[in-house]
Amino acid sequence: MMAAASSMEAEVAALRARYAAGRTRAAEWRAAQLRGLLRMATEMEAEVCHALHADLAKPHTESYVHEISLVKSSCKFAVKNLKKWMKPKKVPASLMTFPSTARVTAEPLGVVLVISAWNYPFLLSIDPIIGAIAAGNAVVLKPSEVAPATSSLLAELLPRYVDGACIKVVEGGIAETTALLDQMWDKIFYTGNGKVGRIVMASAVKHLTPVVLELGGKCPVVVDSNVDLHVAAKRIAAGKWGCNNGQACTAPDFIVTTKSFAPKLLEALEKVLEKFYGNDPLRSSDLSRIVNSNHFNRLKGLMDDQMVSDKIIFGGQRDERQLKIAPTIYLDVPLDSAIMKEEIFGPLLPIITVEKIHESFALINSMTKPLAAYLFTKDSNLQDQYETSISAGGMLVNDTSVHLTNQYLPFGGIGESGMGAYHGRFSFEAFSHKKAVLVRGFAGEAKARYPPYSPAKLKVL
Ligand code: NAD
Repeated sequence: MMAAASSMEAEVAALRARYAAGRTRAAEWRAAQLRGLLRMATEMEAEVCHALHADLAKPHTESYVHEISLVKSSCKFAVKNLKKWMKPKKVPASLMTFPSTARVTAEPLGVVLVISAWNYPFLLSIDPIIGAIAAGNAVVLKPSEVAPATSSLLAELLPRYVDGACIKVVEGGIAETTALLDQMWDKIFYTGNGKVGRIVMASAVKHLTPVVLELGGKCPVVVDSNVDLHVAAKRIAAGKWGCNNGQACTAPDFIVTTKSFAPKLLEALEKVLEKFYGNDPLRSSDLSRIVNSNHFNRLKGLMDDQMVSDKIIFGGQRDERQLKIAPTIYLDVPLDSAIMKEEIFGPLLPIITVEKIHESFALINSMTKPLAAYLFTKDSNLQDQYETSISAGGMLVNDTSVHLTNQYLPFGGIGESGMGAYHGRFSFEAFSHKKAVLVRGFAGEAKARYPPYSPAKLKVL
């Protein structure tokens, strides 16, 4: 871990010197760090699960499946593909430069800063640095202070498993992050909310530092009547309450369905929720708690809003002492209520009804662009129309959230949900510069190129 904020400048300068000396460039160094991260995720599984439980009461299965195993598969994928990603890509030469060869070379950016968020504090810290390391950069990771157990575990573990001279952890909150943002970076990769995303981007301006902003938003779920209802209900519930009790950037934020289908969908969701979490969900160990009292009070505010408090049709229980809120469903809340204006980021799920399913498109397009947009239907025309009509970071048909497990798909937002993307090769590219390299020999002289210019010389071109 780095020392006090005052030494940050010196620490970043030291990282820059090590980067400049070429320490992070060799494929062997990169692969060794990635293998180190893989070993860390494997050997420290119990410790990581313990920290995630301390921070969020995250169930062991969710910690393993959504954080540890995704980190492991990212590491393996990067190790397996590293040489291929690093290999310069030959491209056709142009007639203008004949004879020549041309290629695109992936160049590391330098010293990069990764700022991560609290809701998947292990995954969101390690997954971006996998890309940064694979691309040959020196890295500073700033985990979220809102998940303190995972933050301090990362600070303790990383130096044991990777080259601590080039991969550093800085713990802390706003003061430390602000001090970090004052330094010069070659890329800043930020995960969190859009308000801080704007602070990050503003601070990047002074050195023209490129940024990736992995933000959030309200992820819509459109449910058509032409579905396998039981499967749809399970997958919606798994993506909402089975992902950190709704505290996930890709969690379904609200459902849109038709008036006539809503009662059936509701019944199916209620059955699934009772099966998943029993009659007293506040006592279920399979449901994460709300991360802290600030977020609990924020969600309480949404629930107690007079515009929506009489629209609850399922759930609504909460226990402030344990920071627990049960899965809660609302029907037809006003579109101008806070719950439909803000990202919910918790276990509350409004269902909005429309006469015809296509009306959902206009509703979604009237809102800011989401990180993920979901549709449940067997109707392939509706699937096509959704794909072409809705702009979103990513789109998933007949499931929720699982698109982010596909290493071949970019994961990132658009508009208010962010900029840039990562995962798989996209992570490598997010932390690389695509350098254009053209190599000529000394043959192939075109006289027309050189003064004195003349129309006669031009004719030969
Ligand atoms: P957070 O509170 O952990 O903040 C994120 C980071 O920003 C932390 O490291 C924190 O120290 C830093 N930070 C906070 N205030 C700051 C300030 N004033 N100046 C500088 N740095 C500051 O996380 P959060 O923002 O509550 O995260 C939730 C949001 O993140 C939601 O909107 C969610 O949708 C989004 N999110 C997006 C993704 C994604 O991959 N796109 C993943 C997870 C969460």
